[in-house]
Amino acid sequence: MPKPTSNRAKAIVDAAAAGGWAVPAMCLYNLEGIIASVRAAEAKNSPVILQLFPWAIEYADGLLLHAAAEAARNAKVPVAVHMDHCQSPEMVKRAADLGGFDGIMVDMSHYEKDENLRLTAELTTYCHARGIITEAEPGRINGGEDGVADTAELEGILTTPEQADEFIATGIDWLAPAFGNVHGKYGPQGPQLQYDRLRSIRESTKGRVELVLHGAGAAWFGSDEGKLLRENVGCGIAKCNINDVINDPYREFLAKNAGTTGLTGLIEKATDVMQRETEKCMDWMMSSGKAGEVKFA
Ligand SMILES: [Zn+2]
Repeated sequence: MPKPTSNRAKAIVDAAAAGGWAVPAMCLYNLEGIIASVRAAEAKNSPVILQLFPWAIEYADGLLLHAAAEAARNAKVPVAVHMDHCQSPEMVKRAADLGGFDGIMVDMSHYEKDENLRLTAELTTYCHARGIITEAEPGRINGGEDGVADTAELEGILTTPEQADEFIATGIDWLAPAFGNVHGKYGPQGPQLQYDRLRSIRESTKGRVELVLHGAGAAWFGSDEGKLLRENVGCGIAKCNINDVINDPYREFLAKNAGTTGLTGLIEKATDVMQRETEKCMDWMMSSGKAGEVKFA
């Protein structure tokens, strides 16, 4: 099965990899998140990827997905829609069949390795046949994220170039390496990232897959804002998933203002909060101003 040639998500991430920047991939749970992401992208003249978890399909069937796909189509800048951490073969197929996803992360990392590789290959073929690109995670990125099955009880496994090769053989388009990055909270020492490992994976996979980053959480945006993100982009990361960095300020705003603000005002202002945080991510990942570098086929 040849890889899709005309695909919005692929075009955006290819441009990022070629240009030395990364596209923010926003993990979204509602319409406000979709609106905030697209507004931020248009304000910053940046591409953006809208990411939904399988939770969105379980909760709302195709409604949120199709809202995201319409927002992507109508945006003045390049926008694509991707599913993050799809952990069952049934959900990968259901999501692919709904129409609207440009990409799906086929995350079979909770299966034994051989079964993981077999399922990843089979589901990648299924997605490619529908014009959808796929992402997978060799090794295992530990931790938990809202809407994703927790892997905290499983041992984290760092990615090796050999492992990356095995996954590339399944036909995937994007690879999410584990090099010390984790989902959710980092320990008291903060992120301990193995850049040598990341760079050697980049070297050995170049031209075959693009690299994407999981685990860029609020801990990364401490005293030197954006430094860790820039370092990762410098090592060849072309897409960074963002979750609590925008969703925590959103929740805090709601918690503080829900008792005193009318519903319309609350929704609008909370959307503004997410937009502001998203715009910061675009500056840090250096995607601001890069919309024109993306060429859709
Ligand atoms: Zn992740």
